[in-house]
Amino acid sequence: MDAERVVVVGRFQPPHLGHLHLIRQALYLAREAIIVVGSAQESHTLENPLTAGERVEALKLMLEEELGEDFCRRVAIIPVADIAMNKVWVQYLRMLLPRFDAAISGNELVLMLFEDMGIKTYKPELYKRDSCSGTRIREMAAKGGDWESCLHPRVRDFLGKIGFEERIRRLSG
Ligand code: NAD
Repeated sequence: MDAERVVVVGRFQPPHLGHLHLIRQALYLAREAIIVVGSAQESHTLENPLTAGERVEALKLMLEEELGEDFCRRVAIIPVADIAMNKVWVQYLRMLLPRFDAAISGNELVLMLFEDMGIKTYKPELYKRDSCSGTRIREMAAKGGDWESCLHPRVRDFLGKIGFEERIRRLSG
């Protein structure tokens, strides 16, 4: 393993199978993964429809089924609100999270901020990028298309229970 503890940052709006692929890659690279549920202050908008608590719950449902015991032993999920200053964001994460020595992300801003602080970074291999994208899932839910095909069955059930599709449709007016 290349690292002790790797940070996996995302908005997870909603968590999908691409995110699962990303988290599996994180656990291949490091002993433990800290999943940061970013933009935790956001909810009930078209870009960020779910609350941080709902995203934590959906991730937990998917990961406890997919990772089994490794979920309890090797994964932490921590919601983090955004701050206005990108330059000190990684220090802010250092204050909130257990110590970490690596980060994995496909987001160039996130990679840049970790690299500037001397943290090892990794770019994930993308899984079905055309269909497994939060933007596409939210757009399809708003328009009434097939938005569920890239979701884990447990996330699909959970989003059904909390009325995700109805929320997105109402938000899109
Ligand atoms: P996201 O949920 O869109 O993506 C999360 C991760 O999943 C990314 O690394 C992405 O590359 C990966 N991914 C997406 N689809 C994939 C697929 N099909 N296969 C494999 N991997 C896939 O989240 P994001 O926009 O990258 O989240 C970044 C978060 O960090 C945001 O909440 C942002 O606000 C926060 N942030 C905050 C600050 C600040 O507060 N100043 C600064 C930088 C970033």
